[in-house]
This record gives sequence, structure tokens and C-alpha cells, in this order.
Amino acid sequence: MRYNTLVKSQIYFIKTFGCQMNEADSQRLAAALTGQGHRLTSQIDQATVVVINTCSVREAAENRVFGLVEKLAKLSAKSYQPKVILTGCMVGSARGKRRRYTLTQLKNRLPQVKEFKTISELVGDYPLPVTRPCPAEVLVPIMEGCNHFCTYCVVPYARGAEVSRPLDALVTEVEALVKQGAKAVTLLGQNVNSYQPDFAALLRRLQTINRLQKIAFLTSNPWDLTDEIIAAMRGPKVDRQLHLPVQSGDDVILKKMNRPYTAAAYRQLVAKIRRAIPEIRLSTDIIVGFPGETRAQFARTVALCRQVGFNQAYIARYSPRPGTAAFRLADDVTPAEKKRRWQVLEALINRGKI
Ligand code: SF4
Repeated sequence: MRYNTLVKSQIYFIKTFGCQMNEADSQRLAAALTGQGHRLTSQIDQATVVVINTCSVREAAENRVFGLVEKLAKLSAKSYQPKVILTGCMVGSARGKRRRYTLTQLKNRLPQVKEFKTISELVGDYPLPVTRPCPAEVLVPIMEGCNHFCTYCVVPYARGAEVSRPLDALVTEVEALVKQGAKAVTLLGQNVNSYQPDFAALLRRLQTINRLQKIAFLTSNPWDLTDEIIAAMRGPKVDRQLHLPVQSGDDVILKKMNRPYTAAAYRQLVAKIRRAIPEIRLSTDIIVGFPGETRAQFARTVALCRQVGFNQAYIARYSPRPGTAAFRLADDVTPAEKKRRWQVLEALINRGKI
């Protein structure tokens, strides 16, 4: 680790919650720790150090972290006493401007945790250490943070404003990963379309790397997905699976979510992508039961999903997150109705039953 906290050769276990950004951070952490002579274990009860990489997007994810720490405390009573380090979005949130809890409150709630550090405090900034041997499929963050402030989302508070990694450094890193055995890369960012200086240019440069077979990316939102990016996506190595969160098919709800597009604009964008890349497969994110969402508004989401024909969807039942703008809105769709709406979309998209 970057700071001098781990002495001698430790056996470490990393538990990762949340999105692929966190998975990528955990890969980076593991590469750094292994490079320093510590050994990774897949058995938490054999670890002398447990790193918990947290997610604060949903309350349930935070509760799982609290539950895991409590479980470790109970194990500790039976003479198993790993050093517990907390990292990831909960630590970032606790230090942010619109935090829901302070670091002191987090420390009081989790007295078993010895260190609260962000990932950069643990492993420093980029470039990433390259693991040897490298897995065939690697996650490569190309940017951090988000500038968009969708009203339900804590990410801009937890991860800060968008910062892109330099294009040349990314190309060099992917070349090194390919030399170590990587065949596929997934480029990660909260909104890869806004990668600076130019996401299309990055895709084109990565296409030229010999022996790299596949380039995927996450997440591409419906704004800033320019014609140039779509043209670059036609490159033979770019994955034909595109994740394009729609969140709702109703314009009023989209506006309340601060998503800067209409349902019609989303449909037109999908049509344009399909004209350019007919074999593309689309997945999406949808939130059901956003504050004030009526049955008629939900029906517009269902209609949009039928028209677009997503091959997969991550459907979330809205839950208010303190610190976000939507937290001030009445959470007025009942849990039973949220569940019903979730089931309708789950059956329609993920089980193809309707
Ligand atoms: S684009 Fe919206 S949903 Fe995605 S991370 Fe940014 S604020 Fe959150």
C-alpha cells in the first residue's frame, strides 16, 4: 500500500460492493498489495487484513457493509482478529460536501474498523500496476467522478467531479496489459461519452493495438453520444453490447430526475445507433417508483421498453438517498406498487414473458 500501514507479509482479503468501478479499484489494490509481497486469499477467515471496498449508491449496499463488519467483529471474539480497512464510496461520501454522515460518525458506528482511506490514499494515483499474469479481461477506468447530478444519485457527492485520465497514458497501459495476457478491456467511467479530450479518439487508438481482441465500455449515457462516437463504435473490436441507461420513459419523470433528454430523443438515438450498427444489443437501467410516478407515467416506460427491445435491464425500486435533491420529494409510491412495477419490467425484459 502507498501509506505504510501493512508490515511484513500479510494475507489479505478484499470484499467489493457496488459497481464495476469498484471492481476495477479492487483489482488495482490487489495488484499493488501483491506487488509488495502480500498474498491474496479468497477465504475471509484466513486473512490477516480485510479490505472492504464500499458502495453508497443504495441504502441496502451500505447496510451490507455494516452487516459484514459486525459479522467480522463476532468472528474476532473467537480469536480471529484481522485488521479491517474501509475504502470506497462510503469513505468518499463521509468526506464530501453534502455528506449524510461524517467520518467521525462512521468511525463511531464501526469501531472495529482500523483505517478509513480512499482508494487513492491506499494505492496512489494512476498508472495502474499491471498484475502478472494479467487476466484475459481487464477493467480500465478512464475517468473518475460525474458532473451530472441526477437527482436520485449520490455518485457526484461520493466520487467528485469528472476527471479524465490522459489518452496516451491509457493507450500505454492497455498495451502493457495486452503484453501481460489481456485480450479484452472494459473501459470504465460514470459517463464515458464525456471523456476528455475525446472518447471517439480513444476508441480509435485502442483499436490499433495488436492482439487486443475486444473493447467494451461502461457507462454511456444518452447525452453526448455523438455521431463521431457512434462511428468509432463500428470498429471491429468494439463490443456490440451497449449499456444505455434510460431510467424512465416519461418526460416529466426524466426532468424530475435531471436526465437531460426526452423519451422521443432516446428512441431517436437508439434508431440512429441501430442504423449504424444493426447487430447492436442494448441493455439499460430503469428506476421504478420515482417520487410522483403515476401509473400512466410508468406505462410510458413500459411502452418505451417494448419499442426498444432491450436484451437486459437493471431495474431498481426507487429508494430515497439522504443528501440527494430527490430526497426532498415525497417518496409516495408504495412499496407494493414499486414491487408490481418492478415485476412488470422484469417479466417484460429479463424474462421475455410479456
Ligand atoms: S450520470 Fe447521473 S446516475 Fe450516472 S453517476 Fe452521474 S449523477 Fe449518477
